[in-house]
Amino acid sequence: QAKEAGKNALRFFDPAMQAAVEERVALENDLRNGVLENEFRLFCQPQVDACGRLCGGEVLIRWQHPVRGLVMPNQFIPLAEQTDLIIPIGEWVLRKTCETLVEWESHPSLAQISLSVNVSVNQVRDHNFVERVLAIIDDCGANPARIMLELTESLMAENVEEIILKMNALRVRGVRFSVDDFGTGYSSLSYLKRFPLSELKIDQSFVREIALNQHDAVITEIIITLAKKLGLGVLAEGVETEDQLNFLLAHDCSYFQGYLFGKPCAIELFASSFMDLMEPVSRHIRQG
Ligand code: C2E
Ligand code: MG
Ligand code: MG
Ligand code: MG
Repeated sequence: QAKEAGKNALRFFDPAMQAAVEERVALENDLRNGVLENEFRLFCQPQVDACGRLCGGEVLIRWQHPVRGLVMPNQFIPLAEQTDLIIPIGEWVLRKTCETLVEWESHPSLAQISLSVNVSVNQVRDHNFVERVLAIIDDCGANPARIMLELTESLMAENVEEIILKMNALRVRGVRFSVDDFGTGYSSLSYLKRFPLSELKIDQSFVREIALNQHDAVITEIIITLAKKLGLGVLAEGVETEDQLNFLLAHDCSYFQGYLFGKPCAIELFASSFMDLMEPVSRHIRQG
């Protein structure tokens, strides 16, 4: 696709548009090279329960580019998704996650926690998806019950039967599924009863003004109720303030993730960075 755009670039008269197209081609070349040279890093952000105790982490990719520096996923994942590159990148993320889980098995406070992994629509649509995921898990000897795959609502809008079959094949092995950025997509609610889901993640756009904006407050409350009545876990993303946390606790949200508890850090530093969240009683204590 980017190569096509490269050819077309000659047709543009607008220099800004031409520059954008050239940058895109350069980025794709760099990304392809980044895959070959192994330039990706895995970060991890803590997830806590209502007592403030560490119960999981979300793994988040970064790209350590030799010249561009540390590149954030929003700057290269969309491009990876438009090319074939999301497949090797996604495999790398899952493998590194599985290796980490195996390492953590001997750590007293980390052995029980799960890691959430973002998975792009194109990865799941790939005809080898289930085989690839299981091969990586088995290869590393990871416990599939410690893996939560984060999907987006857009996946649940097309070829529903095929996606359900794939999810079920992983679910029987113990892999769980979460809906990321819940409430921001275009799909119907009916998928909630058909897909083998374990968790809804309330999008941070609802959480941001939860204490100020009545609409965001109501939407959040309803997502929590919906999740609970369907027997799903519910996690709030982007929790930054005590006010947001208190609102979420008052409305019985189960799990929390955000800068209030910790920013994403290199996964190798996760254990040493978040020791405070592993104590039996931590600062954000709430009984119940
Ligand atoms: P996401 O899955 O919704 O991840 C949450 C994003 O919110 C992360 O940004 C995280 O650093 C950020 N965040 C966490 N807590 C807070 C907070 O309290 N306040 C604010 N303002 N932001 C917070 P990040 O790491 O830049 O990732 C952006 C997106 O890139 C992710 O959104 C996800 O969609 C995608 N992504 C990241 N890693 C991967 C990956 O390995 N594979 C795929 N396919 N996508 C990925
Ligand atoms: Mg996510
Ligand atoms: Mg999200
Ligand atoms: Mg997102």
